[in-house]
Amino acid sequence: MLKKFIAFAAIAVLLLSGCSANSQMETEVESAQRPIIIQGPMPIEAENFAERLDKVKVEKSGTFVFYKGKVNNYPVIVVKTGKGMENTAAATALAIEKYDPIAIINQGTSGGHDPSLNVFDIVLGKKVTNIGSLKTGSLGENEGIEPTNWIPMDLMASEGSAGEDPDAEKIRYYEGDKELLAAAHAVKDKYTKGKIVEGTIGSADLWNNEVDRINWFHEKYGTSVEEMEGASAAQIATQYEVPSLVIRILSNNKTNGGQYNPDTAAANQDYVYEVVKQYISQITNKK
Ligand code: SAH
Repeated sequence: MLKKFIAFAAIAVLLLSGCSANSQMETEVESAQRPIIIQGPMPIEAENFAERLDKVKVEKSGTFVFYKGKVNNYPVIVVKTGKGMENTAAATALAIEKYDPIAIINQGTSGGHDPSLNVFDIVLGKKVTNIGSLKTGSLGENEGIEPTNWIPMDLMASEGSAGEDPDAEKIRYYEGDKELLAAAHAVKDKYTKGKIVEGTIGSADLWNNEVDRINWFHEKYGTSVEEMEGASAAQIATQYEVPSLVIRILSNNKTNGGQYNPDTAAANQDYVYEVVKQYISQITNKK
């Protein structure tokens, strides 16, 4: 009796494990395709891309919206992050923990720091940096405020005091991923509304309208444009070793009188869609 029961139990276990091996294989195949994350801060900077996804499922977490779908049958998740560094950092960490992405593209609008760039031109972030992370000079009461003497502060330099550590007195740049940059270059000709250049993107919870101050960043940090999210996404992606690239279109440029044009947000998503298709063909051909 006991023997029969053991034999029966063994068969049942074998059958069950056979089933679970199958479904395990399926999830392995699915997870072999790690999704590409496309971030956009404002509705006009995310929804245009989200509408192009096939088989979309919408998931929400806090105020963050994840549009999970497919491009050319490859998983792509568009994330509406909200504006600014904090929203972007949280949305990036969350996306990495939830979806284990193969790459992250942070994209949207920006303001020009380089007078040779016009509204509708696009900057590929060869480098991205936080232009809001600064240490002021040391001045006493009634000695005034001297922003041009402020020095960059690298919050990632050490675990010690950023205010005291001289190693922290430097600009931290995050490099754009080479394969994502290659994909962006490969489809440059598909974009006809302006030029596409590599450059340095500066981010902070800040909108600079003082041209002298913009010029100061342009000279000191080499910034081509400013916006409020890219460096935050790049910092978190770097900490998790996820390849990332920031792609920003100029929606305004105070240095050459370029007036704000919200239509740039959709134009950038049109281009980024081409970049994503190209990147998908690069990663799927590699296997
Ligand atoms: N003028 C827009 C406001 C955009 S808010 C409006 O009234 O609707 C800022 C967003 O635009 C941020 O997500 C930021 O990344 C981007 N941005 C565009 N130009 C910018 C600039 N000159 N400085 C800072 N952020 C800019």
